[in-house]
Amino acid sequence: MKHFNKTLMALSFSALLVGCSATSKSTTAGLKDGSYTGSGKGNNGPISVEVTVQDGKIADVTLKEHAETKGLGDLAMDKIINQVKEHNSIQVDTVSGATNSSNGVLAAIKDALVQAGATQAYFDTLEKVATTQESLKDEYTYDVVVVGAGGAGLSAAIEASKLGASVVVIEKTPAAGGNTLVSGGGINAPGTRQQKALNIQDDVETFYNDTLKGGDNKANPKLVRIMAENALSAADWLMDDIHVDFLSDRVQQFGGHSVARALIPVGNKGVELINKMLKVCDEQGVDVFYNTKATMLNQQDGKVSQVIAENNGKKVTFNATKGVVLASGGFASNVEMRKQYNANYDERFKSTATDASTGDGIVMAQALGANTVGMEYIQVYPTCNPNTGIISYVANSRFNGAILVNQEGKRFVNEMGRRDDISNAILDQTGAISYLVWDDTIEKVADMINVHKVEYEQWTKDDLIYKANSLEDAAKHYNVDVDTFKQTIAQFNQFVDAGKDTDFNKTGAMRKIETGPFYIQKVTPSTHHTMGGLEINELAQVIDTNGNVIQGLYAAGEVTGGIHGTNRLGGNAITDIVVFGRIAGQNVAK
Ligand code: ADP
Repeated sequence: MKHFNKTLMALSFSALLVGCSATSKSTTAGLKDGSYTGSGKGNNGPISVEVTVQDGKIADVTLKEHAETKGLGDLAMDKIINQVKEHNSIQVDTVSGATNSSNGVLAAIKDALVQAGATQAYFDTLEKVATTQESLKDEYTYDVVVVGAGGAGLSAAIEASKLGASVVVIEKTPAAGGNTLVSGGGINAPGTRQQKALNIQDDVETFYNDTLKGGDNKANPKLVRIMAENALSAADWLMDDIHVDFLSDRVQQFGGHSVARALIPVGNKGVELINKMLKVCDEQGVDVFYNTKATMLNQQDGKVSQVIAENNGKKVTFNATKGVVLASGGFASNVEMRKQYNANYDERFKSTATDASTGDGIVMAQALGANTVGMEYIQVYPTCNPNTGIISYVANSRFNGAILVNQEGKRFVNEMGRRDDISNAILDQTGAISYLVWDDTIEKVADMINVHKVEYEQWTKDDLIYKANSLEDAAKHYNVDVDTFKQTIAQFNQFVDAGKDTDFNKTGAMRKIETGPFYIQKVTPSTHHTMGGLEINELAQVIDTNGNVIQGLYAAGEVTGGIHGTNRLGGNAITDIVVFGRIAGQNVAK
């Protein structure tokens, strides 16, 4: 086995974190044999486990219920459970990048052990199981080094290796996926088989125009054209070569698009794309190093030829004989960097992006003279969790007719307008809060509660979504002015009858809100996507501040700028990362 050929995330945890320096002292103090169910709090909701105690020791631990992120939290919990079983101890290290899931499952096991009679004295006797690191070599050489294992990086890696290049992907977190993993995974493309089956007319020109207009004509038209022209082949590639399953009977119309053109993966989550891409990487022999953070790029004879990285404090050099692809994502989670380019997006904003979105690739390339474009354009997503900043998928009922009202019970914006318009409008309302409102008829079409059941339950528990029997009940629950609220809905229903919203010119689906149960959800905007980034040309080569190509350096995905102008339309991120990821991979391997 090649030591670090670990493209499957399940292997990644054991790969770089193997062996344990110490085992627990065996102790039987106080544990009564039997099976016990314990619970803890994870990232997305409760985690429950069943612990079997035999002969006073932990004989088995099974994960019963949880809502942790597939491909990250679940793998971390498996790793922890294995260590707990192996060492009869709960004093094990958490998995970095999945701290809440790790702590949640450990709390659940502890809860079960307390029921089995464990006291603090018992827990104190357990020896700490320290994980030791398997050491990496000082230096590796590949044809192509890809930085970042999100959708852009994996697309590039697959294409480069298909052309015969030896490829390594280095990823700073313990798992692949980045924001692609936690996104809805929808990809816009005109002329797909799904659109045809639904008789939706669409073409490259309309998609191109929607995208340019959606970004206030500030995008680079050449790059937008490339994205629009290659979107269909990117979607076909995902379906036919990568075997991604998209819903066959549904395409979504996101805000700013003139027709429904987003394919939706099964499960409505990007995890479907990432898992399938990782599988192909594995089959093609792409190496993936996790917990490995790129820190610097080096040039030789005017060409980028080396990535310096760090793995658990150790410096590792990756030589790239053909070139380097930067696919390290944006900087939505880096408050200082946000403020550096746009003072508006300060600490007031939480982010929907993962903590890894810190703009590393941009900074590393700037050190080589790379140019950036549109850095001040930072997108906020309108319907997020007021407590955590995390995006709500249940709130996608907006695309099927849900409307937004403020604390005073009034509408204030076209709910199907651009994300920035809606977000700015929400920030101007009382408490920077808005309420999304829909009824049973809309819910039956949207089906979001069913598809995102866990999210719905968590938000309900946190009193951020309320299911009401009447409109009055809905308004009262969040102290929204009842009379104004009822008037607003009545007026809106008249607009639906008339086929025109003369208040805000609502676009997209128009459905009456009249059939209970009703749903009301509290939402606020979070930073979501950074449109700005490295300047690239049509071959995904990075351009310097003098307008020249930086030899050997390619970039794709959110690390780049110029493709979305001031504002990225929904579903265009996945189109961007797949189209330009593939282009970068094909060109670097040449
Ligand atoms: P994109 O949508 O462009 O593919 P994502 O945010 O989905 O971007 O993925 C970017 C990936 O790059 C994430 O998995 C992130 O952890 C990783 N990453 C960010 N900075 C570095 C770095 N310095 N070294 C290695 N990986 C990085």
